[in-house]
Order: sequence, then structure tokens, then C-alpha cells
Amino acid sequence: MNKDKIWLSSPHMGGNELTYIHEAFQQNWIAPLGPNVNGFEEDIKKYLQSDIHVAALSSGTAALHLALKLVGVERGDEVLCQSLTFAASANPIVYLGARPVFVDSEEDTLNISPVFLEEAIKDRIKKGRKPKAIIGVHLYGMPYKIDEVHEVAARYEIPIIEDSAEALGSSYKGQKCGTFGEFSILSFNGNKIITTSGGGALITRTQELKEKIVFLATQARDEAPHYQHSEIGYNYRLSNIAAGIGRGQMEILDAHVDKRREMNEFYKRLFSAVKEVKVLSEPENTYFCNHWLTVIIAEEGGAFNTEALRLYLEQENIESRPLWKPMHLQPVFKDASFYGNGVAAAAFKNGLCLPSGSNLGENERNRINAAINNFL
Ligand SMILES: *Cc1c(COP(=O)(O)O)cnc(C)c1O
Repeated sequence: MNKDKIWLSSPHMGGNELTYIHEAFQQNWIAPLGPNVNGFEEDIKKYLQSDIHVAALSSGTAALHLALKLVGVERGDEVLCQSLTFAASANPIVYLGARPVFVDSEEDTLNISPVFLEEAIKDRIKKGRKPKAIIGVHLYGMPYKIDEVHEVAARYEIPIIEDSAEALGSSYKGQKCGTFGEFSILSFNGNKIITTSGGGALITRTQELKEKIVFLATQARDEAPHYQHSEIGYNYRLSNIAAGIGRGQMEILDAHVDKRREMNEFYKRLFSAVKEVKVLSEPENTYFCNHWLTVIIAEEGGAFNTEALRLYLEQENIESRPLWKPMHLQPVFKDASFYGNGVAAAAFKNGLCLPSGSNLGENERNRINAAINNFL
């Protein structure tokens, strides 16, 4: 039996990445700017089929940092953030000296609950601290409840920053994730749906804002022959080499989304007879999920133990992983406020992410199938 490690989600090159990297070498564009950076931004803009502007940056975290800065978050402010997410969604709030206030998930998508979002907004306003921004996350590629969440945000006139780091290729009512927020971010880290080894993008509504982002991301250099600065800047631009990988990856993005969705179908069949296990899937056909990772949730208090499955798969050299541990349960955020009723905590306790890479084939599926059936 083939016992090579089966990863949760590993880089999957399309083939043309090296062509773009060679071009960069031939033209000596070994810099955090150049034709690949511009081309990659154009590719993303075309893919998102929307009137938006794209700035390629060094990471999704950097993109969130600049988005928060541009909506005006300052020292002492509060920002509402989905609790069930990766720490990178919340950390940039703290970089700016502001405080995160965490909001629970709802059951259908496991993303930010519009009900607790409104409760949190009302309570913070009552305390004299109207939140400056809301961070909603399309976790594991599943769009959050866009209509409901944006309706609440609009009612209180609070901007939404859309964390689409895991959701490139997903859409809601035919509109691509990454185009809904006042600002939206993407990530191209090593385990995401496409990768540039490391990288991200900040998506904005106007060309003027894009120019402001590029200005801040290249050390906020004023127009002058010498180096002159009237603002604090950052070194957050994407390298032209990494962007070359990105251009190759954009060519195969849709094919890789199809593969991830096939993995999700595979798990749905595999668990169809297991009553106490739910495979997270689109709540309605208005949702289209890239299924970056397939997530299973076991019934609370039932016989199925996801941690036992994780340990069993590990013995078979198959990687699986608990869901993101909610931010309001993290030691580093122990003093932060939280609004909710335990949905995120239960998902963390009873959930498991299964191998979902676009490079998993028949051979790997057979091994996963056999391992899970043996476990059952
Ligand atoms: C990966 C990720 C980020 C951060 O992106 P990086 O490019 O790794 O900085 C932010 N939010 C979520 C939900 C992510 O999964």
C-alpha cells in the first residue's frame, strides 16, 4: 500500500508558473513591482468580474492591516470580528492599537451570526463605543450570510471588511466572494486555494483608493527626487517573482475549484450513511462554495468522536485538523468581549477538516475511503 502522506491542502502548480518566473529573470524584474505584479492584478480583476481594483500585497494579513487603517481604525477603537476564524483575521486590529470584539457564528454557514452581530453593535453603542468596522469571514470558502450581515451593517453605517482569504472561487447569488466588502482581502499562502508561496491582495472600489494602498505599501514615499515622507508607510508589496507564480495559478483556479468540490462530494457520499455526522455544505443554491477544506461536524454528545478519527487518520499518514479555535477562547484574547451562544465553540469541539487538496486523486481517495470505513 502507498503510504505517502496525504496532506490537508498542499500547493498544486498548474505548469505555467515557471514561464512567468523565467520572464521575470530575463527582464531582470526581481523586485516588489513589475509586469507580473500588474498582470496578476489584472487576472484577479478579470476573474472577479466586478467593478473593483486590486492591489497585490505580501500577505492577506498585510491586506487586512491596510484595510483597517483605511476605514479609519485608530488606537482605542473597537472592531467587530467573527470569532471562528484564523488569528490573522483579528491580529491586525491589535497592530493598530484597537480592540477586537468577537461575534459568534450561526449554524448554516458557521460564519458571523447576523443576530449576534446586531446585538453586539447595539450593546457597544449603548456603552458609548460604536464599532469602527466589521470583519466577516467566508470560512473554508463558505460565503457568510451576505444579505443579512450587510443589511445589519448598513443599518448602523459600519463598513464591512470581507475576509475572503479562503474563498477565492466562491460566490453568492452569482457574485464572486472578494467583491462584497467596502474592502476585501485575499490570501495566497501555501495552503490556500491558489498560492504564490506567500502573498495576498486588497480589493477596493476605486482607482484612487488602490493608488493610496500601493503608496502605503511601498513606504509612503512622497513625490520627490529624494526620499521624502509625510506619513508612516509599510513594506507590503508583492514581489514580481511571487506574482509570476500567481499568474500561472490563476490559469488553473477554476479547474482546482472543481477538484475541491469533487472532494466535498466524495465526503458527502462517504458519510451519507452516518447519521450523526454532517458534511458542511451550501445551505441554499444561491451559495457556491469553493470547498477549500471539507468540514465535518459530529452531533453534540453523540457516539462519533472527531478527535478519535483524527488520531486514527494520523496513524494512516493522513492529515486532518480541528476547526479554527474561536478567537474568544484564545489565551491571547482572553480579555476581549464576546457576543454569542456557543455555536463557534461547539463547531470547534465537534468538527474536523479533512484532506481536500485539488491534487488528490483516485489513489488518495481510495486510501481515505478505506481508512474512514475501517474507523467506522
Ligand atoms: C490565511 C488567512 C488569512 C491570512 O492570510 P496570510 O496571507 O496568511 O497572511 C486571513 N484570514 C483567514 C481566514 C485566513 O485563512
